Amino acid sequence: MPPVYSLVIPIFNEEAVLPLLLRRLDALLDALDAPAEAILVDDGSLDASPIVLEAKARSDARYRFVRLSRNFGHQIAITTGMERASGHAVIVMDADLQDPPEVALDMIAKWKEGFEVVYAERLTRDGESRFKRMTADLFYRLLGRMSEIDIPRNVGDFRLVDRKALDAFLAMPERDRFVRGMFAWIGFRQAVVKFHRPSRAAGETKYSLAKMARLAASGVVSFSDAPLRLALWTGLTISSLAILYGLWVIAMWALNADFERGWSSIVVLVTFIGGANMLMTGVLGVYVGRIHSEVKRRPLYVVERETGFAPRVEAASGRDEPSARRA
Ligand code: UDP
Ligand code: MG
Repeated sequence: MPPVYSLVIPIFNEEAVLPLLLRRLDALLDALDAPAEAILVDDGSLDASPIVLEAKARSDARYRFVRLSRNFGHQIAITTGMERASGHAVIVMDADLQDPPEVALDMIAKWKEGFEVVYAERLTRDGESRFKRMTADLFYRLLGRMSEIDIPRNVGDFRLVDRKALDAFLAMPERDRFVRGMFAWIGFRQAVVKFHRPSRAAGETKYSLAKMARLAASGVVSFSDAPLRLALWTGLTISSLAILYGLWVIAMWALNADFERGWSSIVVLVTFIGGANMLMTGVLGVYVGRIHSEVKRRPLYVVERETGFAPRVEAASGRDEPSARRA
């Protein structure tokens, strides 16, 4: 029987939390009112995670396992799982139990009311450093101002999406995937469930500062062209100031006034304009770099192996909607 619910769980070096996770997932799968599958996406873990996960997928028919050929990052791992999901409602959650599996039941209730996207908002966030909370808050404020779409705050990737919204998401071809922004962009009827976010059940965060910065950069670059427009405005401002300064110099010269003829002002201006120029070239470079990676049209990820999925043809015909995108 094809599953009604698909759970998608990205996993990177989570061996410490897996026994707990699998127990909670078992409980959730038992509690659900319809057939469900759990898709465990191993994002190139270097620890024992893939061994544990694959064993689970072999011994329990409700579990599927897919391993990427290296660490492609959280957002890509989520996308991998969602592409392979065959349920009518797909729920993405973290492996570290910071997204409590039971909250999925509330999401499903909303889904049954007819919402296509149900996201989970964090009322509290335990065990996260002040630094992380403050930078996250600042980032979402800024992004909210810079982009046209409304990306909800205090929301991660813990989300239920209906098949309709999922198809819209998978039809978005971009390589640079800021998943929470993409779901905000898609529209449809969206609902929110609130939850208290506990700290990690075990292990440590897999989001290094560098990974967080990369995520923030893709958020900005994929959803805003404000940095590009910044070049226009700084350029305009600097030119206007230069013109005013020039007029002032001419006036002083005409009045034969005694004014400072130092070259320090020139040095200041030249370095300032040089700096502004480089900054703006850099901004352009960032966007051009993204264009470059989009036009290369490489696959989003490479799969090393998978277990527990129905053969492709069967999976496709088992769906009530065509899955042509896969081709
Ligand atoms: N994750 C992943 N690939 C990565 C980094 C993280 O699949 O490169 C997974 C990780 O295993 C976890 C989820 O993404 O299931 C969220 O990561 P984490 O809990 O470390 O992030 P945090 O909650 O600290 O923001
Ligand atoms: Mg976490």
